[in-house]
Amino acid sequence: MTNSAPTTTPIAVEEALNYILDHIKPLPVEVLPITQCLNRILAQEAVSDCDVPPFVNAAMDGYAVIAADLGECSATNPVKLKVIENIPAGVAPQKEVVLGTAARIMTGAPMPLGANAIVRFEETSEAQPLSGLSGLADDEVAILHPISVNENVRPAGEDVQKGQIVLPKGKRLRPQDIGLLAATGGGHIAVHKIPRVAILATGDELVGVEEPLTPGKIRNSNEYTQAALVQSYGAEPVMLGVARDNIKDLTNKIRTGLKHKVDLFLTSAGVSVGDYDIVKTVLATEGVMRFWQVAIKPGKPLAFGVIEGVPLVGLPGNPVAAMIAFEVFARPAILKLAGYRNWEKPTLKATLQEDVYNSGREHYMRAFVSQTAAGYQVTTRGSGVQVQGSGIVSSRVWANALVVVPNEIRRLPAGTEVDVWLLDWRGEQIPFVNPFVKSKEDVEG
Ligand code: AMP
Ligand code: MG
Repeated sequence: MTNSAPTTTPIAVEEALNYILDHIKPLPVEVLPITQCLNRILAQEAVSDCDVPPFVNAAMDGYAVIAADLGECSATNPVKLKVIENIPAGVAPQKEVVLGTAARIMTGAPMPLGANAIVRFEETSEAQPLSGLSGLADDEVAILHPISVNENVRPAGEDVQKGQIVLPKGKRLRPQDIGLLAATGGGHIAVHKIPRVAILATGDELVGVEEPLTPGKIRNSNEYTQAALVQSYGAEPVMLGVARDNIKDLTNKIRTGLKHKVDLFLTSAGVSVGDYDIVKTVLATEGVMRFWQVAIKPGKPLAFGVIEGVPLVGLPGNPVAAMIAFEVFARPAILKLAGYRNWEKPTLKATLQEDVYNSGREHYMRAFVSQTAAGYQVTTRGSGVQVQGSGIVSSRVWANALVVVPNEIRRLPAGTEVDVWLLDWRGEQIPFVNPFVKSKEDVEG
């Protein structure tokens, strides 16, 4: 990788993204107790150390019996069985059930030898008044319904088999995944470290959120948007504040980031073609950088490079462009660092509510998706600059989605079914394959 002069011919979104991802490696792994693993990304397949359930057990409270013993019994023609023991959950049965006997058993308790079905309490003299049955001894139960073999019995390994891969590499651990690890012996598990992302706003015109707005100044909003985006994708922001448009300040801020051992730098502004864009000069001095004009709207200027081993994504300054460029370029970089193997944004199909016009770049239009009786509908509220202009920050807020209009498409008529990115969904793709797989071949094949 070498420094390049700023490109004047725009490069495609995909080309820029592929280049960025080619220079990003997943972060190292740490082994943690599963209590600390919520939302962490699995660095290895999780393999079960046991069958789940580990033994044949009762699915109901009732009596373990031999099904053939019951014949065609009924409430008027019950079968009497001798109760040989009581088996609570967690206790190993001591006796074998033979013809003419039954064991009283609780849900989850191991099946006693000999028995092959569980009659629920509700279908025995324990729960129903005995009409026409006399002489039931204290150690006897009357069964009022026939039963078939294996009824109310959970076989060992019904759910998970020992040695089975229960979770694939690259999976974000949700509460139910942590529960599965607990059930299958994964008390500690290898996960990737959480990316630490330095956020650096640049520009002489920026004032802090608490400072008065003096003439010519604007509030630094990018730093806060970026920090919140970083958090929303599960990474840790390291806020470096504002670097002024001079070489010394910017260099110092980059050095501070390096000292904080960050895994990625995100800068905003100073990478376009303006006179005061010294960010480009400093970045090119500090590391190996590319400066692109990407065929994306909004968000044309973009920089990417590596500074002392740390990747840096230089986002545009314009807040809307910065946010879109974050979603398109920085989000996948963060997810790859975090250990995800799939960072495509989840999309859904929705019907466009109005004609949409495009000018020859991949256009990420702010949009609002709603669910109606007729399916998902999406509105961009029009293609005009008053709504979709890159200076309109408020439209980021009513939007819950982006409609992606490919660069070769100049017009999409109302009624077209379009793919929309859901902004409020986390950035991982819903897996197409059920991650709960039966064998290694299923995962890798
Ligand atoms: P630049 O890339 O430096 O030309 O900046 C493009 C536009 O984004 C200018 O209008 C800047 O004032 C604005 N801008 C740059 N940084 C920020 C920021 N941190 N917060 C809000 N607006 C910004
Ligand atoms: Mg500037």
